[in-house]
Amino acid sequence: MLIVMTKEATAEQIQAVSDKIRELGLTPNTIPGSQRTAIGITGNQGPVPAELFEVMPGVAQAIPVSQPFKLVSREVKPEHTVVTVNGTPIGGEALAVMAGPCSVESEPQLMACARIAKQAGARLLRGGAFKPRTSPYDFQGLKEEGLKLLAQAREETGLGVVTEVMSPGTVDLVARYADMLQIGARNMQNFTLLEAVGESKRPVLLKRGLSATIKELLMAAEYIASRGNYNIVLCERGIRTFETMTRNTLDLGAVTVLKQLSHLPVIIDPSHGIGLRDGVIPLARAGVAVGADGLIVEIHPDPARALSDGPQSLTFPMFEQMMQDVRRVADAVGRRL
Ligand code: PEP
Ligand code: MN
Repeated sequence: MLIVMTKEATAEQIQAVSDKIRELGLTPNTIPGSQRTAIGITGNQGPVPAELFEVMPGVAQAIPVSQPFKLVSREVKPEHTVVTVNGTPIGGEALAVMAGPCSVESEPQLMACARIAKQAGARLLRGGAFKPRTSPYDFQGLKEEGLKLLAQAREETGLGVVTEVMSPGTVDLVARYADMLQIGARNMQNFTLLEAVGESKRPVLLKRGLSATIKELLMAAEYIASRGNYNIVLCERGIRTFETMTRNTLDLGAVTVLKQLSHLPVIIDPSHGIGLRDGVIPLARAGVAVGADGLIVEIHPDPARALSDGPQSLTFPMFEQMMQDVRRVADAVGRRL
């Protein structure tokens, strides 16, 4: 159930509605909106009687929400959410580009990536310091040392920092250095981690799980929102299919479905989406054409020597080419870069 207040509703009237919801043993969730206040009710097992609220002063409407994901659904908030990360809006007319290495490897490697990212028009720097690797023998990331390098790169370039957090116990540490917390595909259903980033109030980049449905992705986002953090950006990064010629199958259809079902911004990751360098630029163009609000891409000064994901990392000239191409597609679909 969503309680929509009138534009003129007073703070006392809004409070009275929240109190009433609590009296029923349920949870009120105030949903930020530019025009009016709306309060989402969660915690109910069955339908909540609308009449209880419709008679209250300041209430415009009580609307039942049919989807199991409530706070992140379009039903609850018809207008787009714009998430601002270090001054960069994600979800507005302008596309947001996040670029950087898969893993932070060294100061020269990260700084080279940050400079080219900035110069080519990206506003956010990506880079993993805590790396979820399939093999325990592979490079696991520089950990806090990597976070420090990311913060240093922000100092020098002004780019906002996006980096992965892998466990609830390291959320505070990562949030000290990062502007946006990335939840990796492998952790999309780590519910204690989702709750922890929900509590942290830092913007969250939530990547779709390797074999997660669209609904499961939205339910994962709901975990974060249910803790009061609505600063969530969804990311389609490719799913596991029967195909073996590509690393993953980028589900571009999911972008349009997510945009219809949810008010949250949606970006795509063409790098993990295909796993092959030569496929990244075409998929970046396609993602923007299909309505994504931005891109996250891996770049490396020398991909052959990368400690992770070299085969899908763009060289710097390729990244510059991608930005040029994407700018033209953005123009064609009424967006800008
Ligand atoms: C990454 O961004 O480097 C990464 C590990 O992504 P994903 O969780 O989508 O595999
Ligand atoms: Mn990677």
